[in-house]
Amino acid sequence: MKMRRFFSFCCVISLLFLFGCSYNAATGRREIIAISTSEEVALGQKAHNGILKEFTLSSDETLNEKVNRIGKRLVRVSDRQDYQYHFYVIDKKEFNAFTTPGGHIYFHAGLLEHLSTDDQIAGVLAHEIGHCAAKHTIKKYQAALGYNFLGNLVLNRIGGGAQQIANLSSGVIMNLAFSAYGRKDEYEADRLAIKYMYLAGYDIDGMIGVLKVLEQASKGASKTPLILRSHPYLKDRITAAKQEIVNIKVKFGE
Ligand SMILES: [Zn+2]
Repeated sequence: MKMRRFFSFCCVISLLFLFGCSYNAATGRREIIAISTSEEVALGQKAHNGILKEFTLSSDETLNEKVNRIGKRLVRVSDRQDYQYHFYVIDKKEFNAFTTPGGHIYFHAGLLEHLSTDDQIAGVLAHEIGHCAAKHTIKKYQAALGYNFLGNLVLNRIGGGAQQIANLSSGVIMNLAFSAYGRKDEYEADRLAIKYMYLAGYDIDGMIGVLKVLEQASKGASKTPLILRSHPYLKDRITAAKQEIVNIKVKFGE
């Protein structure tokens, strides 16, 4: 039985390499992504419908205009251009921002109020765009679904379609949307954010400003929203971001 399981595992891995392994310009790595862009976009739409039931989007035109303007400027320099990005302001005082599959980025009005400059807002948006470009968001779904699922997905694709992704319940989709990223992904999103901020013409020191605002907020937080879950290592993230700012300036000859 163990041998059979091992054999099927090897088959799945080989199939994933054959059909799902591609180069990611954001991470510089070859990666196994078995969920296609169109499937990811469909998942994102399903998640968005769930979010609309749970939250109210802000009708504040100034805030919406600001987030969309800054987001769109950053998107132009993103390593990922195979789908359209969408930016929303959620009418909630909570300190949060999050991303779902298909490039949907949500910014809580409560966090926006604590950011004093466009550069700081760009820091948050560029970090979330970094998660999209590095495919961290869709990888959370892959990881949760397991290799059996992925194997079936690849096999079904050969036969012409992957219903399993489409059949995921809204509950599972929403839970994954609000689950935290790993520490490595957070550092990678910070590095990409600094690069995108620089390329889009924002002051990259704005990233340090954002991390300090988050660090401050995490001290008094009674419950921890997603964006503050990295608070035990926000200090380390600030140190790493400062180093990355130096690296970017050296790289681009400043
Ligand atoms: Zn993050």
